[in-house]
Amino acid sequence: MRILLATRNAKKLVELRRITAAAGLDGVEILGLADVPEFPEAPETGATFAANALAKARDAAAATGLPAVADDSGITVDALNGMPGIFSARWSGRHGEDEANLQLLLGQTADVPDGRRGAAFVCAAALVTPDAAADAAFDGEGDVPGRTVVHGTWRGTLLRAPRGANGFGYDPVFAPEGSDRSSAELSAEEKDAASHRGLALRALVPHLQALAARG
Ligand code: IMP
Repeated sequence: MRILLATRNAKKLVELRRITAAAGLDGVEILGLADVPEFPEAPETGATFAANALAKARDAAAATGLPAVADDSGITVDALNGMPGIFSARWSGRHGEDEANLQLLLGQTADVPDGRRGAAFVCAAALVTPDAAADAAFDGEGDVPGRTVVHGTWRGTLLRAPRGANGFGYDPVFAPEGSDRSSAELSAEEKDAASHRGLALRALVPHLQALAARG
């Protein structure tokens, strides 16, 4: 069975591929958006990570006829009441400007004392089949077969200056709980083992496996 990883963020795609490959999915061929005909990207208008992940996966499944996996993720800062949250990718105003986003966040939290710099990376990962994407009940609260969303949370603290060159986005300013390094100083394997995306994707694996078993 073919499954589409529906993300336009190249660094996220690398992580999603790595995590699904490590899960050793039997009988599943993983495709990226480069492997399917182009389709327009819908704006992210959901109020939650889950709503955005589901919308991205539904659009991809409807456009391609393939089961699609999408994630929506971001950093939530306790001292900012959970912001940037779903606005993480465009916190400085323009989508995907990692360095500007990170510098703005550091400036906004410069006066926050060390004991109150708690933060978390959060990920919602959705799996949507083409049948579910076409179901009129898709946006309702009830169970729709083939519509699955799972979550992963990675707690830590917000650093005062960037450290490390691995990863992407806010990795250089996030120190995971129990680590004296930033997440940009972790190896790919170390990040995947603990990260919000690793946790969420591994929670999705049994659903992917069940879908593959049905053929
Ligand atoms: P999305 O494409 O709307 O889900 O954007 C997620 C944004 O959250 C990214 O652009 C990053 O700024 C941030 N983000 C999500 N996951 C990570 C991560 O693993 N490391 C660093 N930043 C992340």
